[in-house]
Amino acid sequence: MAERTSRAAEQTTRKGEVDGGEARYDAVVVGAGAAGLSAALVLGRSRRRVLILDGGEPRNAPSSGAHGFFTRDGAPPKELLRIGREQLTPYEGVQYRRTKARKAGGTSGAFEVVLEDGSTVFARRLILATGVADELPDRPGFSELWGRGVYHCPYCHGWEVRDRPLAVLNSSGAGAVERAVLIRNWSRDLVLLTDGPAGLDEKSRRRLSGLGVSVREERISRLEGDSGRESRAASGGLERIVFEDGSTLAREGLFYVPPQSQRSELAEALGCDLEQMARALVIKSDPTTRETSVPGVYAAGDVTGTGPLQSIPLAAASGAAAAYFANHALATEDADAELAALAAGAER
Ligand SMILES: Cc1cc2nc3c(=O)[nH]c(=O)nc-3n(C[C@H](O)[C@H](O)[C@H](O)COP(=O)(O)OP(=O)(O)OC[C@H]3O[C@@H](n4cnc5c(N)ncnc54)[C@H](O)[C@@H]3O)c2cc1C
Repeated sequence: MAERTSRAAEQTTRKGEVDGGEARYDAVVVGAGAAGLSAALVLGRSRRRVLILDGGEPRNAPSSGAHGFFTRDGAPPKELLRIGREQLTPYEGVQYRRTKARKAGGTSGAFEVVLEDGSTVFARRLILATGVADELPDRPGFSELWGRGVYHCPYCHGWEVRDRPLAVLNSSGAGAVERAVLIRNWSRDLVLLTDGPAGLDEKSRRRLSGLGVSVREERISRLEGDSGRESRAASGGLERIVFEDGSTLAREGLFYVPPQSQRSELAEALGCDLEQMARALVIKSDPTTRETSVPGVYAAGDVTGTGPLQSIPLAAASGAAAAYFANHALATEDADAELAALAAGAER
C-alpha cells in the first residue's frame, strides 16, 4: 500500500502538481492565439496539466473579422479567441494566465519559464506559439489601415473587396507578377505598385499588360482613407494612394506582405535553430511533429514560417499537431518510468 501511495505521489509530481511550492506542468504553452489555444485544448483533453500564457497581442487584432475559418467565418478575432479560452474551462488540468513568458531555459523534461512577475514555472515540454509581428512601412496610413483596407492575404480578405479597385504592392520582379496574377482572381481592376523602379523584364511587363494590370513605379508617400470603416463592408477603409510626386491613385484595397519579426526571443534563448524564409526569420521545426531542433520544444503557428500560408486554420492545425506529438512523447516517458520503477521494486 505504501509503495502504491508513493508511486501515486510520484505520478502526481510527474503530471505537474505543485511540488514543494513549485508550479510544475506537463507542458507550458507560450502564446494564446489560434496555435496556442488549439495546443492547450488537445493537451487538456489528453489529461495533461498545462499552463497557457497569453501575451494578448494576436496578429490579426486590427481586423474586424477573421475569415475562412470553418464554422466561424467572419467572427471578430477577439470573439474567436474568447470562445477558444472558454472551451478550455472544462479541462481541469489547463490553467490560463494573462501574462508573458520573459525567459525560458532548460532541457527536455526540465524546462524553466520565468514569468513577467518574476516567478518561475517548470515544464516537461514547451510549445512556442508566440506569433510574429508585421513590420509595416513607416509611412502614414499603413498602420492605420492595416487589416482595414491594407491586407496581407487574399484568402483572408479578398472576398470582402472582390471586384473593387485594388492594388498590389510588391517590388520583387517575378514575385510581383505572380502576386498580381493571384490577386487578379478577386478583381480585374488591379494596379501593381513597385514603390520605385520595377525590376521587371520585358516578358513580365508583357504578361501584366496582356492581363490588363498596369504598373505604377512612383515611390509611395502615404495612404489615405477612413481607418474606422468596417472592413466587412464591400470595401475596406482605403480610399487613395498618394505618391511622392503628388499624384494619387483611387483604390479600395491594397495587398501587401510586409517583412515580419518574431514576437518573442524565447526560441533563440532556448537554442532552437532558426531559418530565413522569404519575409522572416522563423523557428525551424519538423513539419509533422512540430518539434524544433531542441528536443522537447515544439513550435506552432506563424512562428514556424509556413511562408505565405499564414492563417488561423493552419496555425490551429499546427498547434494541435505539436500537442499530439508532445503528449505522445510524455505518455511514452510516463510508461517507461513506471516500468523502470516496477523493475527496480522487483529487484529489491
Ligand atoms: C490584419 C490581419 C488580418 C488577418 N486576417 C485573417 C483572417 O481573416 N483569416 C485567417 O485565417 N488569418 C488571418 N490572418 C492571419 C492570422 O492572424 C495568423 O495566421 C494567426 O493569428 C496565427 O496564429 P498564431 O497563434 O500563430 O499567432 P498569434 O495569433 O499572433 O498569437 C500569438 C500570441 O502569442 C503571444 N505572445 C508572444 N510572445 C509571448 C510571450 N513571451 N509570452 C506569452 N505570450 C506571448 C502574443 O501576444 C499573441 O497573443 C490575419 C493577419 C493579419 C495581420
